[in-house]
Amino acid sequence: MIQSLLDYQKTDAKLRDIEKKLSGSEERKKAMTAKKYLEGVEENVNKLDARASELMAAYEKTEQEQAKLKEQEVEISDALGSLEDEKEATFLIKKAEELISKIKSLTAKANKISEEIQAVLKEYQTIKNTTKAAQVQYNENAKKYNELKESVKGEKEAVEKELETLKSKVDGTLMERYMTKRSNKIYPVLYEVRGNVCGACNMELSMAEMNKLKNGEVVDCDQCGRMLYLKK
Ligand SMILES: [Zn+2]
Repeated sequence: MIQSLLDYQKTDAKLRDIEKKLSGSEERKKAMTAKKYLEGVEENVNKLDARASELMAAYEKTEQEQAKLKEQEVEISDALGSLEDEKEATFLIKKAEELISKIKSLTAKANKISEEIQAVLKEYQTIKNTTKAAQVQYNENAKKYNELKESVKGEKEAVEKELETLKSKVDGTLMERYMTKRSNKIYPVLYEVRGNVCGACNMELSMAEMNKLKNGEVVDCDQCGRMLYLKK
């Protein structure tokens, strides 16, 4: 029983090599990177839209404040035209100075917002360009990856057919345990026990586990998850 699973595992190495060749290929990596970028673009654009709205609102607010200050300016200049005494003149001069300082800081604020708006626009442009580049990268590499897949298709099918034949000789429960581990990217799955430790990770096995192994059972290593057997 164990021998038939070992035979399966030996041939399974060929399938694993093909899978590794595909998943580790540059074409796939480049296509995946581009895909990931493209998937994140919408979120980036949404964030940028929100930022742009904030900035526009802030800019409008400074415009409204500027209009108010203009009104005050008119008031002061009217009052200066009909001055009655020195006290009033001092008061108006103070008010005019305050107004000048407010206008200065408001202008600085508006300039800063304007700069930020420019930066957002620049970022929109950058996103537009990188999105185009990512689309090109994705299309090119997805095509190449498909070609690579196509090139190993025959080989892969032959190995799968071979495995199908070998599978029929293995105990169903054992095969299922093997396949679960294999799909969790464990390979080789089946290991021989060395003395009383796991042949893969050196984890010491309990008496109970050793007894099971001596009975010809296959146990799972608690540490590395591999399937262990004892060679008769
Ligand atoms: Zn182990």
